Order: sequence, then structure tokens, then C-alpha cells
Amino acid sequence: SVFYKKLPKVELHAHLNGSVSAQTMEKLIQRKPHLNIERNMTAIGKGQRRSLDECFEVFKLIHKLVDTEEDIHTVATDVIKEFADDNVKYLELRSTPREEKGTGLTKKSYVEAVIKAIQQCKYDGVDIDVRFLVAIDRRNGTEVAMETVKLAEEFMLSSGGLVLGIDLSGDPKVGHGRCLLPALEKARNCGLKLSLHMSEVSSQLEESELLLNLPPDRIGHGTFLHPEMGGSQPLVDQVVKHNIPLEICLTSNIKGKTVPSYSQHHFRYWYQLGHPCVICTDDKGVFCTDLSQEYQLAASTFSLSPDAVWELSERAVDCIFAGEAVKQQLKQKWTEIKPGLL
Ligand code: 5GP
Repeated sequence: SVFYKKLPKVELHAHLNGSVSAQTMEKLIQRKPHLNIERNMTAIGKGQRRSLDECFEVFKLIHKLVDTEEDIHTVATDVIKEFADDNVKYLELRSTPREEKGTGLTKKSYVEAVIKAIQQCKYDGVDIDVRFLVAIDRRNGTEVAMETVKLAEEFMLSSGGLVLGIDLSGDPKVGHGRCLLPALEKARNCGLKLSLHMSEVSSQLEESELLLNLPPDRIGHGTFLHPEMGGSQPLVDQVVKHNIPLEICLTSNIKGKTVPSYSQHHFRYWYQLGHPCVICTDDKGVFCTDLSQEYQLAASTFSLSPDAVWELSERAVDCIFAGEAVKQQLKQKWTEIKPGLL
């Protein structure tokens, strides 16, 4: 409804290639008709569900459609404008730098294309503050993770504050966090923030214990951390002690079948604890959602009043990776918008 759309929002968990809208997908498909990819192959529509493995097959298809600097620039620009249209005022986009031998795309030019899109949107006056997290795909192992951190560090220093951190993502059933720990420690030590996908599936408990010792600055999903989901009290205690915010992606978890129903979503557990939870989309293109819809879903599933929804979006500001000055600017924006909305 109008309230959720008008609500100023912060998006902290959005994978670039999972966020590509139907309209942008049409453009990409027209650029590459020989691939014979259709829109319905790159999105999971209303009422549909896929296994997590099938979701990762969808990303492979999208990657075929997005394999030049121009493509990256197009998708980043469109995704940023779409979030802005949805009244997202601050966005941390994440994406895995890819090299494509066939098109000359390098990991460096990949990141540059994203940064140029962010700068162009700013220049064009799009009303959104956008930052970038460089993603490590866990399946690629130790060495690639280390290279990715080096790349992120370079851009952190040269991008004027646009690159703020590292995301650890990719198929949770492949690889082990143990192998990635040195790269993540290096990232932390050079001042990159860490947002790590953790306990997205039930087999990751030992890995979560290990990663929590870093500790990360935010947790992606964290579905199986708490005891009712087979996690443990010590894990919960650790998350609470370090006050590590959870990025919550309702539709994604339902459509990817890691959570059986909205009412059983782990948001309930953490929200009732009073722990910082940030509502996010994950992959708005693939899962056919937007951030307004995710807030509305949270409100209807967990019976949140408009005041509680407002507080949820306002508290998300405290969880961003940008510094204190940016937080203050955003808080100011929220204060200005509030009387017209509540
Ligand atoms: P990209 O990094 O290419 O911009 O966005 C797609 C990638 O994000 C996927 O290949 C995958 O590595 C990661 N990703 C997107 N959604 C999810 C998710 O729900 N869970 C995990 N673990 N990774 C994801």
C-alpha cells in the first residue's frame, strides 16, 4: 500500500545480478537473442518456489546475460533507479566481480562499471545514497577470496568512500568458511566492513561459530542460528553480545525454501529479543519483490503497527556501513518525512 511505498527505507542486502527487474531483463535479452533465454527463466513468480540449488541455476543464466562492462553499467543504473523509485534513501549494493574472457570484462573493470553507475546516478540527481560491497563467492576458495579482498581494498582507498566492505555469499552448500577466514581477517584488518551470509542452511553451525569470532559487522540471513532452528544459545549469545544486525529477507527465504512459512520465519525470534533486524530484498528481480512489499509482508505476518514499521526502517540507519555523518543526514531525512506519514 501507499504507506510502505512512501516509507523512507534503507536497503542493505541486495545482490546486483539478483536485483535485475523484468524491464531490464528484456533489454538484456534483446542484446543477446542467441542465448534463447526468456524472462520466466530468470525470475520466480508469485506462489512459485524453488530449491536453493535451483536458485543458483537462475544466477548462472543471468550471468550469461550480464557479461560486458556495458551490461554491468546498465543493470547497476537501472537497479539503483528502481530502488530510488521505491523510496529507498540509502542502498548498499553487493556484487561478485567476474572476469569474462570472451568480452574483455575483468574483475577490475567490473567494479569500475558499478562505481561509474553509482556516480552517474548521483550526478543525475537520483535521490539515493549508494555504496558498494565487493562480494566473495564462497565456492571459489581461498585464493580468489584473497584477490577479491585486495581489489576491494584498492577501491576502498580510491572510490571516495563508495566501497565500504565485503560480502560473503554464494552456494552455502559449497566450500567452508575455514578456507576463507584468512581473507576475511585481512579485510577486517584493513578497514573493510564484513557482511557475511551465515547459517543460511542447517549444516553450517560449525562454520558460523568460526565466523562469529571475527566478528562480522552484519549477518546475512542467520536462519539456523537460534536453538529453535537447531542452532545454539551460545551462538545467539555471541550475536547479541557483539550486537550484530541481521539482514532479513522474507520472500527470498520462502521462495528459496530455507524457511517453511512466513509465520515461522526467524525474524520473529530476533525481533522479539529486541535485536537489530533490517528488512531487505536479497534479489528483488529473481524473487519478484521490492522493499516496500517486504516491509508490508513483515507488518502483516508479525502484526506490526505503523509506528513499529517506522521504527524498523529508522533503526536500519544505525546498521549501515557508512560513517556517522551519513547516519546523521539520513536520520534528519527520516525526521523531516515522519509528520507527513504517521
Ligand atoms: P552478483 O554477485 O552476480 O551480482 O549476484 C548474484 C550472486 O549473489 C549469486 O551468484 C550468489 O553468489 C549471490 N547470491 C544471491 N542471492 C543469494 C542467496 O540468497 N544466498 C547466497 N548464499 N548467495 C546469494
